[in-house]
Amino acid sequence: MLSVQGLSKRFGGVKAVSECSFSVEPNKITALIGPNGAGKSTVFNLVSGVLSPDAGKIVFDGADITGFLPEAVSKKGIARLFQKSSLFKNLSVRENLLLGLDSNDTGFVSNMVGRGSALLALEKPVSDSLALVGLKGIENKSAGELSFGQKRLVELSRTMLSPHKLLMLDEPVAGVNPKIRSEIAELLVELRKKGETVLLIEHDMNFTLSVSDRVIVMDDGRVIAEGSPKEIRKNPMVLEAYLGE
Ligand code: ADP
Ligand code: MG
Repeated sequence: MLSVQGLSKRFGGVKAVSECSFSVEPNKITALIGPNGAGKSTVFNLVSGVLSPDAGKIVFDGADITGFLPEAVSKKGIARLFQKSSLFKNLSVRENLLLGLDSNDTGFVSNMVGRGSALLALEKPVSDSLALVGLKGIENKSAGELSFGQKRLVELSRTMLSPHKLLMLDEPVAGVNPKIRSEIAELLVELRKKGETVLLIEHDMNFTLSVSDRVIVMDDGRVIAEGSPKEIRKNPMVLEAYLGE
């Protein structure tokens, strides 16, 4: 579904990503792991069009999307959860989710937030999606009042609401308490059952290895290992990369 070929990106003297190649298969959870600074988020920025690569190619769903801008990438069907939180804290949970359904072209929902009735058709997907992440009943709370973990769940459901073929999640459980962490793990299992395709960045190895089908390990901008969680768990290069942190 997604294939990254020889991708490279440098920031001044720092080679953040060097000749990185991997692919993501449909209906599977693929994890991208590696120590801090390995280049994982930069790969996400390159794939989602936030950055353009110095070299290499990104093919999604049969089309070359290298150098596409974020709107064009999202239109192709890639939805992304960012590592940093991005909710509007003065808007309600519901309004934040409705904005996630917005089209970049028309800004339709942005123009309608607060006006009620025209949005009725969108209510069901929003409440279904809140139910999926176990947050029913908090639709009208303002996002600013939520706990960190609840915000993360709202962001996850917003990402899932935007039409997509591939979900890219950057550290969904970082800084989240153990209860919500296990809820997010269950959610990922649920998504896989539904046949979703997920590319997940997660620093927490135990979490990652327990939820993913395939694992790609990066260190120093490069892919150093690939395999099943079982294979990765006993790969000495992987252990060494993490120990070196
Ligand atoms: P990871 O997500 O694996 O922790 P990143 O992709 O965020 O790693 O970072 C990889 C390297 O690139 C790091 O050395 C980081 O400091 C550097 N880097 C990332 N983004 C930028 C940027 N916008 N400007 C300069 N350096 C950056
Ligand atoms: Mg990162």
